[in-house]
Amino acid sequence: MEAIHRAKGFEKIVEPIRLTPESKFVFQCYPGVPCFKLCCSELHLPLTPYDIIRIRDYLKLGTEEFLILYTEPFILPKSSLPIVRLKMRDDKDKTCPFLGDGGCNIYEVRPLACRYYPLGFGLFRNRDEKRNEEFYYLVKEGFCQGLDSGEEMTVEKYRYSQGIPPLEEPIFEWAEIIMKKESLGPVEVPEKSLELFFMVSSNPERFRTFVFESKFLDIFEVPQDTLEKIKTDDLSLLQFGFRWLKTILFGEDLVKKRKEVPSIRKAKPF
Ligand code: SF4
Ligand code: SF4
Repeated sequence: MEAIHRAKGFEKIVEPIRLTPESKFVFQCYPGVPCFKLCCSELHLPLTPYDIIRIRDYLKLGTEEFLILYTEPFILPKSSLPIVRLKMRDDKDKTCPFLGDGGCNIYEVRPLACRYYPLGFGLFRNRDEKRNEEFYYLVKEGFCQGLDSGEEMTVEKYRYSQGIPPLEEPIFEWAEIIMKKESLGPVEVPEKSLELFFMVSSNPERFRTFVFESKFLDIFEVPQDTLEKIKTDDLSLLQFGFRWLKTILFGEDLVKKRKEVPSIRKAKPF
């Protein structure tokens, strides 16, 4: 497989064309295709916070256990924000840890990036319309024989066929944080803020402990119904975490600070 990757003409080409949901491309992939599984090795495969929850639950692992066994820290190139990516096996081809003889062993819960392939995706700020918009692009790798054969379809149809929209919706605010940091350029972010971003992005159990067992609730005012939800529901916890990150990283005031924090709180009369 290594030789195939290195062979002339098999390099990765990102087509510099911005695609919209209505753009069309031609692609098909199926288990009998001659290049089957070639795209599942030597990857920098970032995991979204929702990927982590879904794969962890599918494997019936605790978060720490999943992170230690299958991931490694990764710094996103443009934003310099720390997240985790899948740790490739230490074999000659650097294969994905979930690649089995019959294909992907976690196909039902495969990561967002795997679902998108051969498309890539990103977000940009439409300043005229004052909103964030998604964009897509085609990644052409020489070994992939599924490109330019099979059915012509729109990007949107492909996204739905891969079950992408319901997996993206819960992490939209997370993507916005990354995009905003990218747009700020090389600004220095305090080490502590990067650690907090990493915690929310990779480890919901640790973030929950942080909320309920540190001075967090002395400092931030969290409505009771939100507290009830985030105690047990990981997706609600993520949503809350993203709003909190926007508050501490960009001052967006989405999670209110208490008027009096412990250090300045008056002693209670007794
Ligand atoms: S998670 Fe599955 S689809 Fe994604 S790279 Fe690994 S084996 Fe391939
Ligand atoms: S290389 Fe392309 S066609 Fe081959 S298995 Fe991967 S995605 Fe499918």
